[in-house]
Amino acid sequence: MKNKINKAWHEKHKLAMPSTLEQRVKWHEAHLKHCGCRKDLPPTILAALKEQGKKVCSRNHVYKGAGPCPICWPGGKKGS
Ligand SMILES: [Zn+2]
Ligand SMILES: [Zn+2]
Repeated sequence: MKNKINKAWHEKHKLAMPSTLEQRVKWHEAHLKHCGCRKDLPPTILAALKEQGKKVCSRNHVYKGAGPCPICWPGGKKGS
């Protein structure tokens, strides 16, 4: 599978430089949802998400709470 870049999204969402950590976290969170050009998250962003109680699943969905990713497992079918 190729990583598809969402050029339109990137055009509209240029990250201001310099940017605050908060801005970058928001940018990356939105980016994961809208574009697949890169899958890696900088460690600082991951750490910041964790601090907000958010997790990133192996398919790069950002979600909150315990248990499996609700996007990969709608309705929490697995287990429980
Ligand atoms: Zn992208
Ligand atoms: Zn997921």
